[in-house]
Amino acid sequence: MSSDAMINIDNLSVTFNRGRKPLRAVNGVSLSVRPGEVVALLGESGSGKSVTMRSLLRLHPKDTKVDGSMFVDGQDIMGLSSRELSDLRGAVVSMVFQEPRLALDPVYTLGRQIEETIIRHESLSRSEAAARALALFQKVKIPSPERRLQNYPHEMSGGMLQRAMIAMSLACNPKVLLADEPTTALDATVQIQILLLIRELQKEYGLSVIFVTHDIGVAAEVSDRIAVLYAGRIVEEGKVADIIRNPRHPYTKGLLGARVELAGGRDRLITIPGAPPDLANMPEGCAFAPRCPQASDLCRAEVPRLVTAETSKVACVQYA
Ligand code: ADP
Ligand code: MG
Repeated sequence: MSSDAMINIDNLSVTFNRGRKPLRAVNGVSLSVRPGEVVALLGESGSGKSVTMRSLLRLHPKDTKVDGSMFVDGQDIMGLSSRELSDLRGAVVSMVFQEPRLALDPVYTLGRQIEETIIRHESLSRSEAAARALALFQKVKIPSPERRLQNYPHEMSGGMLQRAMIAMSLACNPKVLLADEPTTALDATVQIQILLLIRELQKEYGLSVIFVTHDIGVAAEVSDRIAVLYAGRIVEEGKVADIIRNPRHPYTKGLLGARVELAGGRDRLITIPGAPPDLANMPEGCAFAPRCPQASDLCRAEVPRLVTAETSKVACVQYA
């Protein structure tokens, strides 16, 4: 474990006990993020990205089994009392979601909601909180910020609402931003604007960010490092340039291939054939083997460990 990390996740496993069989959504994930660093957590839908993020704020249902350790800004997340945890949320760690509409309260104005967030964490007067809310709306470049603070969530477009959500997430000067597919629901042009905004704010405030996405292009755009998640396990991790120029895991190659076909002007996104495994019935060995063009019997025998292969880390027998 690196001691200079802002976020350190070590061997995290998360198992839900809802259905007939336990479902292990996250399976031995280790990840660290340095101060001021942006790490993309990249994977298909259902790979365990949101579950990993929610673990950092302990937002799982009560009967969820969580193993491993998580430290954020030196605090042991698993050991925090619920009081300490609610102090941490917002003030140290903030989260931005795919659907801001679900995270906001429809019956209060945006200004009111941001003020409440500030007052909950800091001893400021209502008018001081209102002044900060205005500054935040200016910071995230919402036009006519005074007027917009009086709006209710339904009066804003998706892009503007995501800006408001980002303003709220920064309200108490967090050190860590967890961004869970914050641009996925937006139009392509708005998506780029929001990505640029997050990058700009991240630099200005020196935030440590985990940016969750299913889009390798978005991951390459925003992050310093990429961790590729497949069926609850990290299969490859490294600096953006290394992952993009020299992907090693067949799954990462597949994700990049899909992207290249798209950039090549084809009208169809070529995806990796097959589907991710059922997490309640995981295959023996490498979880990607059933879809892997290079799979051999060796792959089905045991789960490959994440090992260092030159510039990145990869979990594949080819590099073991
Ligand atoms: P994604 O990578 O798309 O964000 P998630 O992390 O949301 O995927 O989900 C990973 C798996 O965990 C999925 O199979 C999902 O259905 C399951 N899951 C997530 N939350 C719960 C829960 N509270 N109870 C049971 N299963 C869950
Ligand atoms: Mg998700």
